[in-house]
Amino acid sequence: MSQRYSASVRQKIRERANGRCEYCKKPDAVSVYPHHVDHIIPVFHGGDNDEDNLAWACFQCNSTKSGQIASYDFETGELPPLFHPRRDEWADHFELKAGKIIGKTAIGRVTVRILQINHPDNVETRLYLIQSRKW
Ligand SMILES: [Zn+2]
Repeated sequence: MSQRYSASVRQKIRERANGRCEYCKKPDAVSVYPHHVDHIIPVFHGGDNDEDNLAWACFQCNSTKSGQIASYDFETGELPPLFHPRRDEWADHFELKAGKIIGKTAIGRVTVRILQINHPDNVETRLYLIQSRKW
């Protein structure tokens, strides 16, 4: 649980993200577990508490991302950083297809893999939310 931020900071980060996880786009209004304030660059990697380093993230994305900042992309052989919600545009790196979020770039692919964005439970939930117009 992230209780390190005042209610006003949490609210500001949430509103900037329109209440959606900035990685997988899950709306917090339909999430069983509360969304968290995520350090895009973790503190132990030198990230700070500035709002530019904070993102609104669902429980799954926040916990699977943990302290990770990059990974190996098997398609290009590159070591791209994970998606950075303040610097990167979501639609440049991801697209939603039949309930799955597809990485369009090396950044998108490693983020989908490391955050397990297409874990079967996440896809099932996403499909249900799309079908019930809650996505
Ligand atoms: Zn998420």
